[in-house]
Amino acid sequence: MQETTVSGWFDSHCHIQDQYLPEGADAVAALVEAHESGVGGVVCVGTDAASSAGAIALAGRSPSEPGAAGGCRVWATVGLHPHQAVEGVAPLAELLEGAAAELPGAVVAVGECGLDYHYDHSPRDAQLRAFREQVRLAKQHGLALVVHTREAWDDTFDLLESEGPPERLVMHCFTGGPEEARRCLQIGAYLSFSGIVTFRNAEDVREAALACPAERLLVETDAPFLAPVPHRGKPNRPAWVRLVGESLAALRGSPPEELAASSRAAAMRVFAIG
Ligand SMILES: [Zn+2]
Repeated sequence: MQETTVSGWFDSHCHIQDQYLPEGADAVAALVEAHESGVGGVVCVGTDAASSAGAIALAGRSPSEPGAAGGCRVWATVGLHPHQAVEGVAPLAELLEGAAAELPGAVVAVGECGLDYHYDHSPRDAQLRAFREQVRLAKQHGLALVVHTREAWDDTFDLLESEGPPERLVMHCFTGGPEEARRCLQIGAYLSFSGIVTFRNAEDVREAALACPAERLLVETDAPFLAPVPHRGKPNRPAWVRLVGESLAALRGSPPEELAASSRAAAMRVFAIG
């Protein structure tokens, strides 16, 4: 396989498919802006069959050389969010097989999947079933797993432990404290920190970020959600991953370039890019 080089910041989790973008915005413009802000790569995350297909289509526009799709490289995930768990994972398997045949390397993970007991938009038994099936899909396809968990730590750990966690595992938008961080690290997970680390009331998330070894720490925007300070409340964009990263660097007392490099390397390792 050809070696992949990516420089600058790496947004390990964003949603820049059409249905997520603010009115009048488009993905290529978001990627051009990200590139100009020093972002070399993003992972565009699927939350249902349609947005997973959208993520694959975007990745398909930049699979070979940097410079395509606005200079910032894009990889995709295929997943079913716990909110949509009732829809079932059947279409995901089909998407994974199609992408593996047509765009090898474009899909790097299954997810985001997991449990959201804060909103409970899907019944919990459906959430648990969809999560379990996606753990199995990730293993079956040799892909990373991207996990969303909210107010459901115990069931999340129970399910991952009973299935056996996939070798490459990302806890996206990490919102636990140091104790949850320790448990995640223990099962081999990478912790991905979002703009929440810039929010005033997120002291325990910052403590978790301080406790996370650099080689397991990822940076994400979760755009269009969770815009970092000083843009809080606006639609988020991959370009702002730099603000999240700089805030983490300041917190950890490390130079931003060093954190950009370590988090980029960690992202490329966990997603097996390059
Ligand atoms: Zn997300």
